[in-house]
Amino acid sequence: MNFADSEIVGAILTKEGYTLCKECGEADYILINTCAIRDNAEQRIRKRLKELKSLQRQRAWVRIGILGCMAERLKQKLMDEEENVSFIVGPDAYRQLPYMLEHIHDGEKLAETLLSDSETYADIDPVRYDTNGISAYISIMRGCQNYCAYCVVPYTRGRERSRDPQSIVREARELFEKGYREVTLLGQNVNSYRWNVDTESHKAEVGFPQLMEMVATISPLLRVRFATSHPKDLSDELLQVMARHDNICKCIHLPVQSGSERILKLMNRRYTPQWYLDRIDAIRHYLPTCSITTDVIAGFCTETEKDHTETLNMFRRVRYDYAYMFKFSMRPDTYAAKHLQDDVPDDIKTRRLEEIIALQGQIALENNQREIGKEYEVLIEGVSHRSDKQLFGRNSQNKVIVFDRGNLKPGQYAKVRVLRCTAATLIGEVIENR
Ligand code: SF4
Repeated sequence: MNFADSEIVGAILTKEGYTLCKECGEADYILINTCAIRDNAEQRIRKRLKELKSLQRQRAWVRIGILGCMAERLKQKLMDEEENVSFIVGPDAYRQLPYMLEHIHDGEKLAETLLSDSETYADIDPVRYDTNGISAYISIMRGCQNYCAYCVVPYTRGRERSRDPQSIVREARELFEKGYREVTLLGQNVNSYRWNVDTESHKAEVGFPQLMEMVATISPLLRVRFATSHPKDLSDELLQVMARHDNICKCIHLPVQSGSERILKLMNRRYTPQWYLDRIDAIRHYLPTCSITTDVIAGFCTETEKDHTETLNMFRRVRYDYAYMFKFSMRPDTYAAKHLQDDVPDDIKTRRLEEIIALQGQIALENNQREIGKEYEVLIEGVSHRSDKQLFGRNSQNKVIVFDRGNLKPGQYAKVRVLRCTAATLIGEVIENR
């Protein structure tokens, strides 16, 4: 999300004559787009700000701004605590940036953190920088109002709002015409995407399955991915649309967070383990080759050994292809911070997290071993980090496959047979170019 937002900020400022530079040492303004989801993310920004002080000593005119969720969460407090920050801008106020940059005078500090019910930046064509020219993100909605007990997003990104589907399709088509071959549609909970078409001749509601279908029909050569799905809203209709279109990638990220019914209730996730497993069964039914990935939190408030065992059992049952696994970090202002106790000692959180990581590592390796001998269409993304004689790409399931370069180029499709694997990567051979 932040990556996509930075591209919007880049577009707003380049339109006003600013140019992007590759190194901080060349910049007159340094904009740091921030995340507030975990304390660790915020601490990294504080550290970065300290590092930038020596650069500011050499280039006294340089001004630093903090953008995004940390700016929204801390507002004035951030400027008071960080003397070298000149301006802060929340996620819905990026259009104010040109004005702010023009009006900051020596010693002054500016802040704009008003959240909006309608801002989607739909009319802005993001500047694609730091891109491989093959894959791009398209933001389809902003905000969230699910209020999971541990999460700051509803407070830092405001209420959920969807973007006009025509502007999304236009952006995807333009990317395809420029040579991009993969778009990822982004939202905090894409399954609740809604847009009411209300013209004199046509009234309809466009939901996420219809939007996916609209983007998928731009070209069979354009792959379409999405993130993230809330399990409570993942519909059979979406799975059926995914099954109908080969170019909608067969990979679903379905954050489970916990395998315990009691903990899920405390988290306000609004599904039970049984509901979640029913959704997994539906994915396997409609999309037998689909990979499934997840997020999990170890050591949420009051989590017992029994709750933790239920999470491990969930991992054994679903057999995820990949998981983002974290220790619980209490975030200020959330429901958990106001009403629950962060009462699982840190050493127990760490041990539980390590158990989940070890189990997931084993499952990922076993899943990958089952891929050996299978053939996949791979979209080539670039040269392998290990050897310039090899390329890497991803299959529809979002698994990275490395193979010998031959005369292939990034942006092309190739059919690859898997020969061997690690827990993270498949190694294959090309059997056909497209
Ligand atoms: S769905 Fe829950 S975890 Fe995801 S952004 Fe919204 S509140 Fe946060």
